[in-house]
Amino acid sequence: MTLNDLGLGKSAVITKVSGEGALRQHFLDMGVIPGAEITLIKYAPMGDPMQLKVQGYELTLRLDDAKHIEIEEISNASEENSGVVNRKKLEHPGFGEDGKYHIKKGEAPYPKGTKLTFALVGNQNSGKTTLFNALTGANQHVGNFPGVTVDRKTGVIRGNDDTLVTDLPGIYSLSPYTSEEIVSRQFILDEKPTCIINIIDTNNIERNLYLTMQLMELEVPIVLALNMMDEVEGNGGTVYINAMEQELGTPVVPISAAKNEGVDELIRHAVHIARYKEKPGRTDFCDKDTAGGAVHRAIHSIMHLIEDHAVAYNIPVRFAACKLIEGDSLVLEALKLSDNEKETLEHIIIQMEQERGLDRAAAIADMRFSFIKKLCASTVVKPKVSKEHIRSNKIDKILTGKFTAIPSFVIIMALVFYLTFDVIGSNLQKLLEIGIGWLSNTVDALLVSLNVNKVLHSLVIDGIFGGIGTVVSFVPIIVTLFFFLSLLEDSGYMARVAFIMDKLLRKIGLSGRSIVPMLIGFGCTVPGVMASRTLPSARDRKMTIMLTPFMSCSAKLPIYGFFAAAFFPKHTALVMVSLYFLGILTAVITALICKRFLFKGEAVPFVMELPNYRLPTPKNVVRLLWEKAKDFIERAFTVILIASIVVWFLQSFNFKLNVVSDSKDSILAVVAGFISPVFAPLGFDKWEIVTSLVAGFMAKESVVSTLSVLLGTRHIAEFITPLSAISLLVFCLLYTPCVAAIASIKRELGGKWAFGTVVFQCVIAYICALIIRSVILLFMI
Ligand code: GDP
Ligand code: MG
Repeated sequence: MTLNDLGLGKSAVITKVSGEGALRQHFLDMGVIPGAEITLIKYAPMGDPMQLKVQGYELTLRLDDAKHIEIEEISNASEENSGVVNRKKLEHPGFGEDGKYHIKKGEAPYPKGTKLTFALVGNQNSGKTTLFNALTGANQHVGNFPGVTVDRKTGVIRGNDDTLVTDLPGIYSLSPYTSEEIVSRQFILDEKPTCIINIIDTNNIERNLYLTMQLMELEVPIVLALNMMDEVEGNGGTVYINAMEQELGTPVVPISAAKNEGVDELIRHAVHIARYKEKPGRTDFCDKDTAGGAVHRAIHSIMHLIEDHAVAYNIPVRFAACKLIEGDSLVLEALKLSDNEKETLEHIIIQMEQERGLDRAAAIADMRFSFIKKLCASTVVKPKVSKEHIRSNKIDKILTGKFTAIPSFVIIMALVFYLTFDVIGSNLQKLLEIGIGWLSNTVDALLVSLNVNKVLHSLVIDGIFGGIGTVVSFVPIIVTLFFFLSLLEDSGYMARVAFIMDKLLRKIGLSGRSIVPMLIGFGCTVPGVMASRTLPSARDRKMTIMLTPFMSCSAKLPIYGFFAAAFFPKHTALVMVSLYFLGILTAVITALICKRFLFKGEAVPFVMELPNYRLPTPKNVVRLLWEKAKDFIERAFTVILIASIVVWFLQSFNFKLNVVSDSKDSILAVVAGFISPVFAPLGFDKWEIVTSLVAGFMAKESVVSTLSVLLGTRHIAEFITPLSAISLLVFCLLYTPCVAAIASIKRELGGKWAFGTVVFQCVIAYICALIIRSVILLFMI
């Protein structure tokens, strides 16, 4: 029987994990391995994916993927407790540990003043961001890892000036599959941090230690930070820190990042072992007595086989051996083995598979989890009940319940939009506009009093202040939207949204996680595009970013309002609703086409952890808002400013570079007149309209304002027919969003993609407008 046949609430033992490549490795890395117990908790409201419990935590799995997992049903799940009780809790010894966990032979500390570098590594939701903030305070810098859109945050550990800590992306393993995993291991292998700080969610210590095993194989000094200790101890659990240190031969520090407990001690340990180059005392986790010792023998034979290559190419030998067995192509390439050696390697692995009765990847995963099980049995006391988990289950009864999930989602999103666009964001925006208006007036008055040249005056007031005004007017909305987003993300709700919506989004080739950026796109494309950064795969990210601009953003509303009022005063609501749906429909069709031709290949496996609900710390939220606002202003400012000045120039000058008195003679008008025949098939080939469409690249609101200026006292109805108004509306809905959006697309995907998106959208807009016009014409005849 396979996992998708398991009954609700029933438990089973996994007997075999088939499938291949990234998906299978991901299963194994998440603890879905032969021999593990698994329980079906519930299905998503639409019947897919499923929520499962394995290795003491909860994850989501699609039914299609579950077919790859063979199981044997068991009548009742074994009690989850490690059996260790009644061991006295010892004080955790202080700084230095008196050489208890390391061998100080040949000690050669770095001289004072050497820069010590630290890598912060851990699973998603283990509290990495919180710890990073606690370690560095305000001393942070955000950049990018070369070649990939993965944020790279660095900072100086407070109180230790000659340190630098880098926050690596949240990962579950060092497999060569996701860009995050590759970034993390490249960083550790190539940039050689002096020390790794491995943060662990102690509530899920078994699964978190799986990554630790791989990190320790890298033979870099490492400190384990057992986070969330406040929750574990609050529920009556504990960890025997000293015993664990002895087993692992490296410092283990219980902390609570959110409460800033134990962080000072963590810093002292980390700096100490970094300075004294204290490598972990243990890198060997295979046991010669487990299952006949086949895995143990294979790993050690391979270590002998590749030792000289590993030394030559500077890859830790134990790490290389384990990765070779798992079938890691990057390591295999890097080691440059001879054909003979490759053959021997294959022989050893096949021998091991036969003796162990498990395939290579599963055997290694099993080796790691067996060690972890033993380690936890002697050092971890699990709490019987976790208050946080019970609370989470209660919340989930509603938020992911069969009948309540989707209504709750709609209500929550509606509330976010209402608060952003009607209450907080719009008021902030008004406030800022008043400020900018005041500044602009002051400068205006100043320029007038100084008798400045009229053109320069117009450049400053219309060009530059116009541009700054556009940038600034976006900021409040971005900040407010990101405030809610970070609440939803850090609380753990976003993972549930992905869980609920996955089935729907899968139909168009995306995963549930893409729903949020697209929804935000209804408010504003810019934060929508920025939010796509949380998507785990590059393919999904690209596709989501391409689709988001089709969601009708709030700046397009004035356009709809203007034309609907002029041409269809009795059917305003109908016009608006139809346009919104048309946007969604276009996105769906585009997605289907993209899935077919542009983004073939498999969607990422949707194996995702569902963390307990937690209240984010205010510090994290404030920091995120600051980062997003700064990011937007830094990146968008130049683009928007330059674009504003260009549009101003085109509007104010003629081809002889003289200032025009009638806007009809401006470069923009002439160019618009020149390209306007292109729009004749759509029915709006007047230069005034084309000019306002060009101005719409600046900001969608400008379409209406430019048009009103150019029309003067004339009424729009004298210009175009109602039919042309419809195709114009369709064109406005679908054509390229404003420069701010283009700037953020460029930031996420690069210039080529941004340009491609612009062209693509103009073409789609043109085609759709044409089709709709033709269809209506057909019916009218
Ligand atoms: P990341 O995904 O690893 O960056 O994790 P975050 O730092 O965003 O933390 C995830 C959630 O756990 C947030 O809501 C934090 O407030 C919370 N959190 C982090 N550390 C602790 C801790 O030590 N104790 C408790 N109770 N909650 C924590
Ligand atoms: Mg985080």
